[in-house]
Amino acid sequence: MNTDFETSCSIGLPDEAHRSSVSIGAKPRVAVFSLTGCEGCSLAILELEDQLLDVLGAIEIVNFREAISERSWDIDIGFVDGAVSTPDDVEEVKRFREACGTLVAIGACACLGGINTLKNHQPEDSYRRYVYGDRAKWFDTQEAKPISAFVKVDYELPGCPMVKEEFLRLVKCLLVGRPFRLPEYAVCVECKKRGNPCLYEKGIVCLGPITRAGCDAICPSFGSRCEACRGILSAEALRAAGLNLQERYDIPLEKVLSELRFYGAYQEETIS
Ligand code: SF4
Ligand code: SF4
Repeated sequence: MNTDFETSCSIGLPDEAHRSSVSIGAKPRVAVFSLTGCEGCSLAILELEDQLLDVLGAIEIVNFREAISERSWDIDIGFVDGAVSTPDDVEEVKRFREACGTLVAIGACACLGGINTLKNHQPEDSYRRYVYGDRAKWFDTQEAKPISAFVKVDYELPGCPMVKEEFLRLVKCLLVGRPFRLPEYAVCVECKKRGNPCLYEKGIVCLGPITRAGCDAICPSFGSRCEACRGILSAEALRAAGLNLQERYDIPLEKVLSELRFYGAYQEETIS
């Protein structure tokens, strides 16, 4: 790996263990991998089109199943979408970690476990039969988790799918050695900035108060509630919002937690 300059970046992850000191060459070698998921975040990279072409001059894509046939394992920056949901995924994510100087989780599945974690709350036999029918025994499975449950992750770009502008911002930060941080405030802040009427006033449970901003409150801006695809800000935010929502709208914390389950079942288990 080239070492023309060194960067030391921190991210919106909670502790020093997630600080990354990475060495990036003049043209970093970049890979994009997928685990269990719809691969929508990998596709979102391809959908960047013109903006991606700008970045492509500064990086070298060396492993990206959806885009090229090359399969190099000498990688400076690796992006991974999808959750760890099978024993094969566990082996794969360890392989990615070993091969990549910097590892970035992209999308709700990789960062939170995402909708894959819905199966964690159902009997294994039932979801295996639902998905695979009579061939259920052919496929191994296990509880779905984010990739950070198995390997050190240097950066996370949450969302379903990830926010493309955030992806470009991170790539640029890595290229010039600047720190990158996710917003540390709630979706409600962006929602208020856009002048949206609050959905709670219509009796709709919206997870904006506990969810990390960065999506420009896209769902409430189109009249849909936030379902926390960017993850919960913190246990404190969850508790504070729980109290507030109970007092103001008579909505119990249990109701908020059940709404959170769509994307955040794993987070619910780890921080509530
Ligand atoms: S609609 Fe949702 S995101 Fe917007 S202010 Fe209300 S609770 Fe917050
Ligand atoms: S508003 Fe909520 S559910 Fe919608 S994109 Fe933003 S974080 Fe995700």
